[in-house]
Amino acid sequence: MASRRGALIVLEGVDRAGKTTQGLRLVTALCASGHRAELLRFPERSTEIGKLLSSYLEKKTELEDHSVHLLFSANRWEQFAFSNHRVFCWQNFSLDWCKQPDVGLPKPDLILFLQLQLLDAASRGEFGLERYETGTFQEQVLLCFQQLMSDKNLNWKVVDASKSIEDVHEEIRALSEDAIRNAAQRPLEELWK
Ligand code: ADP
Ligand code: MG
Repeated sequence: MASRRGALIVLEGVDRAGKTTQGLRLVTALCASGHRAELLRFPERSTEIGKLLSSYLEKKTELEDHSVHLLFSANRWEQFAFSNHRVFCWQNFSLDWCKQPDVGLPKPDLILFLQLQLLDAASRGEFGLERYETGTFQEQVLLCFQQLMSDKNLNWKVVDASKSIEDVHEEIRALSEDAIRNAAQRPLEELWK
C-alpha cells in the first residue's frame, strides 16, 4: 500500500489566544478519530539550544537579538519534523532577514491563526514574567502576523478565538480534518522556496 503522508498543522496567535488549549484538544480529538497525531511546542525547551532559549526567556541570561532569532530557527531545525511558523520581526530587522533561516523547513499544510483582540487576551489573565510577555511586544507580533498572512503561498485560516473553547475547537477540528485529507494527495513542500 502506498504510504500517505501526514499533515503539518500550525496554531498561531498572540499570547493567551488559546494555542495550548486548542492544540491539546485537537490532538486528543484527532487521536480519538483514528489519526496518529502529535503535539509539538516551540520553543522546545528540553534540547541544548532550547535550554539557552529558556534561560533567555526567563530573563536569567542575555543574548544578542540576531542570535536569539537564529537560535529560535535552530530550535525548529533540530526538531526538523515540524516548525512553528512564528517569525520574530524585531523592530530593526527586515521581514526578509527574519525569514531566511527558516527557508527549507517543512511547509505547513495549514496555519490556523487564532485571532483575538489584545484587550480580550488581557481579560484571560495577567501577563507572565517572561521576556516578550508584554503588551508592546504582542502588538509587534500582531503586525508581523499581518505581514506574514499576506503571503498567498501559505494556507492561512483565521479563526475567531473569542468564541467558546468548544466552538473554537469544533472549527479547528473540521479545518484540520480537511487539511489532513488534502495533504495526503499533495507532495511535501519546503517553506519559502
Ligand atoms: P496560549 O497558549 O495561546 O498562550 P492558552 O491556551 O494557554 O493560550 O490560554 C490562555 C488562557 O485563556 C487559559 O487560562 C485558557 O484556559 C483560557 N482560554 C483559552 N481559550 C479560551 C476561550 N476560547 N475562551 C475563554 N478562555 C479561554
Ligand atoms: Mg501556550
